[in-house]
Amino acid sequence: MLLVAADGTIEAVDQAVAAFLGREPTTLSRVPLRSLFGDASDRAWLQPSGARVADDASDSSRSARMIGLRRGDGSTVTVQATRSAIVIGGIAHTAVHIHTQCDFQQVHRDFQHLANSVPGIIWTARPDGVSDFANHELINRCGMTVADLMNRRWRAFFHPDDQDRTAEAWWQAIESGEPFSIDVRLYCQREDRYRWHALRAQAVRDQAGAIRKWFGSAFDIDMERRLQQDLEETAARLAHTLESITDGLLAVDHDWHIRYCNHEAERVFRIPRDQVLGEHLSSLFPRIPGERFALECMRAMTSGRKQYFEIHFEPIDLWLEVHAYPATDGLTLYFRDIGERKHAEAEIEFLAFRDALTSLPNRRLMLHRLEKALRDDKMRGSYTGLVLVDLDNFKSLNDTLGHEAGDEVIGAVAKALGDRFGRQGTVARVAGDEFALVLPGVGFTPEISVERVHAACDEILELMRSSTGNGAHGPRRTGSVGADVIGPGVTDTGEAMKQVDLALLAAKQAGGNQYRLFDQSMRVRIDAWARSEIEIPRGMEAGEFVPYYQPQLAADGSCIGAEALIRWHHPERGLLDPREFVPFTEQTGLIKSLGKTLLRDVCVDIARWSRMPAMQGRRVSVNVSPSQLHDPAFVDDVSRIIDETGAPASRLRIELTETMLLEDVDAVAARMDALTKMGITFSLDDFGTGYSALAYLKRLPLGELKIDQGFVKDIAHDASSRAIIQTIVALADSLGMGVMAEGVETRETLDWLVAEGCGFFQGHLFGWPMSAEDFAAFPRICAIGTPWWVGHSA
Ligand code: C2E
Ligand code: CA
Ligand code: CA
Repeated sequence: MLLVAADGTIEAVDQAVAAFLGREPTTLSRVPLRSLFGDASDRAWLQPSGARVADDASDSSRSARMIGLRRGDGSTVTVQATRSAIVIGGIAHTAVHIHTQCDFQQVHRDFQHLANSVPGIIWTARPDGVSDFANHELINRCGMTVADLMNRRWRAFFHPDDQDRTAEAWWQAIESGEPFSIDVRLYCQREDRYRWHALRAQAVRDQAGAIRKWFGSAFDIDMERRLQQDLEETAARLAHTLESITDGLLAVDHDWHIRYCNHEAERVFRIPRDQVLGEHLSSLFPRIPGERFALECMRAMTSGRKQYFEIHFEPIDLWLEVHAYPATDGLTLYFRDIGERKHAEAEIEFLAFRDALTSLPNRRLMLHRLEKALRDDKMRGSYTGLVLVDLDNFKSLNDTLGHEAGDEVIGAVAKALGDRFGRQGTVARVAGDEFALVLPGVGFTPEISVERVHAACDEILELMRSSTGNGAHGPRRTGSVGADVIGPGVTDTGEAMKQVDLALLAAKQAGGNQYRLFDQSMRVRIDAWARSEIEIPRGMEAGEFVPYYQPQLAADGSCIGAEALIRWHHPERGLLDPREFVPFTEQTGLIKSLGKTLLRDVCVDIARWSRMPAMQGRRVSVNVSPSQLHDPAFVDDVSRIIDETGAPASRLRIELTETMLLEDVDAVAARMDALTKMGITFSLDDFGTGYSALAYLKRLPLGELKIDQGFVKDIAHDASSRAIIQTIVALADSLGMGVMAEGVETRETLDWLVAEGCGFFQGHLFGWPMSAEDFAAFPRICAIGTPWWVGHSA
């Protein structure tokens, strides 16, 4: 209690208050009370006055309040004080009661209460760093006590790796007075393992700035740390994967700014990543309106569907395969350098479609162009001129003046024809001394078209004479010309070729150096199989169509299976070759039912053979026609036949040709995928004769390329055929596909193929197409004795 006189000075103070304030009672005597208060409002509260006394009597609440008192050491302490007016010896005094005792205990209890209710460790430490308090959580969690802390036994509760750095950081904080903050692993008794905690402490200072106490906490951040760690590991793994993939990768955001660029992309585009990161995509791919790259990327971004395409990247003359995958934060672009494949394409294309001597299109390309011209005619109602040109007596020229002179004549005629008609249509060299001209859309009426073809033929005869006889290769040469005007109704190139052949024959028979146009009287000779339209359904009904099997061998001589080739046991005409009726069934659509019948027969054989030990491991390839593959019911038909016959699907292989893959690619791919899932495999037949747009090779589930027999046959005497085969073998190798050569007739051919790395073979050398019974008896290792080619290449 303090007794304060009317002038505001302390008259008396009791021992307890003096001790509490850290002062001697005598030092307080006659001291103005206000000097003990820090706060102006506290001073006003104590101002003794008559009015105040009256107030106090009426309002006791105002006479009690929390006030701040200055202690002897300069610190301030907040206590509850009660003021009352008393009269001593007739003089008004104020008595101030300081409630020291009970408040401290309460505050302390409250503090402990609060500290213990916190779901983390709370602790305090003396300025020298030794702990003097911690909440229950310290024991609950770690089994550590304040005594442990005080005796510096804390180390035992810290992860060994964290002990030294914690001690160091703590002493640094003590010395500098800076806040202390460190993440450490504390031993958790409950779980018998270490858990990550965020250890933090802050110093509280007195007015003079000296540290009075440290207040600290330790909160569990184990989960966060783990998530963080997982996240970092995942990010690191992802980064590693993205850096090691063989595709170049760019990620762009919705504003087309490049956000990621991997190592391969740096290599492909030959630009360091720090030069592209953050840049607009157009800095790499110049914006060309309507250009494929921009269009496809836009499509992927706006449709949310992945896009796949090929582009030529001009700046560094690079062919790229691009996959654009939409992502939540933009677009991910994968790039693959397909230069090698494009090169192979171009090479195959040249070798397969050009004549080496004249560089003119060859027969194959001419037929493709003719086919296209006939399709266009059908759409536009136009006519196409088809002309065959044959040098008269070329054989005798070769024989008398030699091959070089012959080649010179061929070259001169090729140049003359090419110069004159090359822009108007296709000029091709289709055989040694034979040229063909396709003149698409010569007219829109038969009369005008015929007139123009007549004029062209006259010109050609003149060109033959004028272009020859100028060099060292003898006198002027003449030629014979057969021509045909093909109307919009005709789509069969085979038939068109037969017609011009007949016209050419007529011109030659008439003595040469003249031309003939095809006319209907010549037709009678080519209708031999017109009756088949009735004959084929009858033959199917009677079971006259049967599969023959031609063995296929691996390089070690073992028989790995067969190709099923259809045969017609015709009651009058004998055993018929598919070339005599398959083209016709394809035209009329009969092939669909014929193909199904054949597939069923083959599957019955496969099912039977699968139960014979001697036939283990053999599979059968079946040819399908375009109209079968393009039939939406195809997958269901095949699956039903497999189910019904019980043939193991893995023993069935389907042979397709390249041209079948050009139309309706997505539907065909989906069908092939469905069949692949069933276990069926695919082989690409007559490879090298198609359009050589090889992009589909990787997209479609193809297991094997089958080199066209035309190339195989020419191995001995044609360098370009050999080059094509080498390219195909390398291509198949790079795509992980097998290569089968068909039409292998001689040992020399086989030797060469084995040496070049071709893996599988089919041809008359091993066996002709044979009946199912004969094939079942075909030896496991080829009957030509010890396979003499084994080890030959080594
Ligand atoms: P392809 O699929 O190219 O069949 C290979 C052809 O080459 C077969 O003629 C086969 O007998 C013949 N061949 C095999 N080895 C040799 C050889 O060493 N030398 C020679 N010169 N030829 C050999 P085939 O059986 O006359 O079949 C001709 C074409 O008819 C086939 O060509 C195929 O396109 C088609 N074809 C055959 N069977 C079917 C079928 O069941 N369905 C369909 N859609 N087409 C079929
Ligand atoms: Ca085939
Ligand atoms: Ca073939």
